[in-house]
Amino acid sequence: MNKEEYKLYIDNVIRRVEFARVRFDQKHIVKIVAISKYSTTDEIKALYQIGQRAFGENKVQDLKTKSSILEELPLEWHFVGNLQKNKINNLLDINPYLFQALDSLELAYELQKKLQSRSMTLDVLLQINSAKEASKHGVMPEDAVDVYKQILQECPNIHLKGVMSIGAHTNDKAVIKKSFETTYGIYKQLEGATICSMGMSGDFEMAIECGSNMVRLGSIMFNK
Ligand SMILES: *Cc1c(COP(=O)(O)O)cnc(C)c1O
Repeated sequence: MNKEEYKLYIDNVIRRVEFARVRFDQKHIVKIVAISKYSTTDEIKALYQIGQRAFGENKVQDLKTKSSILEELPLEWHFVGNLQKNKINNLLDINPYLFQALDSLELAYELQKKLQSRSMTLDVLLQINSAKEASKHGVMPEDAVDVYKQILQECPNIHLKGVMSIGAHTNDKAVIKKSFETTYGIYKQLEGATICSMGMSGDFEMAIECGSNMVRLGSIMFNK
């Protein structure tokens, strides 16, 4: 695709987001984070040139490499992957706009220690394992509200902004929808939370209709 064709293609993705958000609420606003984990820095630049500013990676090393190659561009970098304890310092060196995948109280305590020693803060989402899948990271739905409150109280350098979840891994639309509803239900109970990040290329419209206000779109944004 040339630039004009790509622009029309992305306009259509945005239109789909628009139709879905209006079905939820006229005043609902949804942010698109382009997940660039399968894409090159040239492809990120092409998407930047037609207006996209928020990008996300799921490996600390890839985030570091791509964000430093593109450091001249005014981009907002999100980290959406699982964070191993021994990579916390590497992530903090990059200082991303938002860490979306805090998945346990234990990791929160480690992160708090490192943040405190650097006198820095980080905006973070608590990841919810909304369909309780063994293959996925995240806090169990029944524990989520308590864990969220505990982090708020005990980890002052972690600025919790809301929740993130990956839709259930199945072709059964009712089950996927239920996993989004579970996450949204938790989000609504959290005082001060402003971000409900759910929905990927295959299920973003349903996620938005369930209340998501941040979608993480990889393959569809890069036409893969
Ligand atoms: C890869 C990834 C995405 C995007 O997936 P697509 O299906 O390509 O849209 C979203 N969220 C997370 C956490 C991911 O790892």
